[in-house]
Amino acid sequence: MKRLTITVPKALVIILFCVAVAHGATHPIRVLLLDGESAGTYHNWQVTTPILKKELEETGLFEVTVATAPHADGDFSNFKPEFSRYQVVVSNLDSADWPPELRSEFEQYIHNGGGFVAVHAADNAFPNWPAYNQMIGIGGWRGRTETAGPRWYFKDGKLVSDPTPGRAGAHGARLPFQIVVRDPEHPIMKGLPPVWMHAPDELYGTLRGPGENMTVLATAHSDPQNKGTGNDEPMLMVLKYGTGRIFHTAMGHDAAALSGVGFITTFQRGTEWAATGKVTQKAPAGFPTAETVSYRVDIAEMDPDFRRGQTGTRTPAANALQPPLK
Ligand code: ZN
Repeated sequence: MKRLTITVPKALVIILFCVAVAHGATHPIRVLLLDGESAGTYHNWQVTTPILKKELEETGLFEVTVATAPHADGDFSNFKPEFSRYQVVVSNLDSADWPPELRSEFEQYIHNGGGFVAVHAADNAFPNWPAYNQMIGIGGWRGRTETAGPRWYFKDGKLVSDPTPGRAGAHGARLPFQIVVRDPEHPIMKGLPPVWMHAPDELYGTLRGPGENMTVLATAHSDPQNKGTGNDEPMLMVLKYGTGRIFHTAMGHDAAALSGVGFITTFQRGTEWAATGKVTQKAPAGFPTAETVSYRVDIAEMDPDFRRGQTGTRTPAANALQPPLK
């Protein structure tokens, strides 16, 4: 009888262990997608958030919950995201500030190993929050100057920091531009071509920040003929904050930019990497070449302005993509 009482719990333990393993293998990565306040209307998160959500969920790897933050001077009493319930927080939020308690909760979540992905508008956010700026490495606008840190860019193939005083954040007209991979062995970049064309987007330059624990995965040349800096500007970065992993993409202004196959691939991979430290996704078919934009019409058309652009007067972004007119 004694033998039986020992055997049964052992069997139970084995069964429970097997269930736990199977559960872990199939359960999607939990993502909290933050959006909300933007300066003016130029970062239209009402359009771009559903696109980012779709791009993650269509991989079958992610389950996305959206949380819309109040305006910086709004009422935060009902905005209490439980960060620890998620493996990664993706930010499409360009906000001026957060209350101290909320900042502290987010800092602890990332410091203790949470994942974070900052997309385009998110590097405009929170100029006066030191920990946030350490997480994103570099940012622009909202009054940032040399006190935010030096400018970071590539010169002669190397990352340099430039302490020249001045404002932070600039871009030219939204045109397609080439992405140059700087760290081809990083899991997010592995197997992608060394140079590829991004869909029309704002090419951010003169971004400033602490740049600590930052690895630049890819850059883009900022063309002086399009109000550019003449430097190779960081476009994709990974950073560490405590034990947390951060992926920062400076790309993704609007639906046209988010429809680029290079953006989609690095966003999907970067989010998986920030959550788990690994990338299981293969490069998709139809990846852009060094000379040709490759974009998803179904994504671009999630923007009502883009759809109108194809039937009537084209938006500049729609013109640059040159889709077939319907
Ligand atoms: Zn923008």
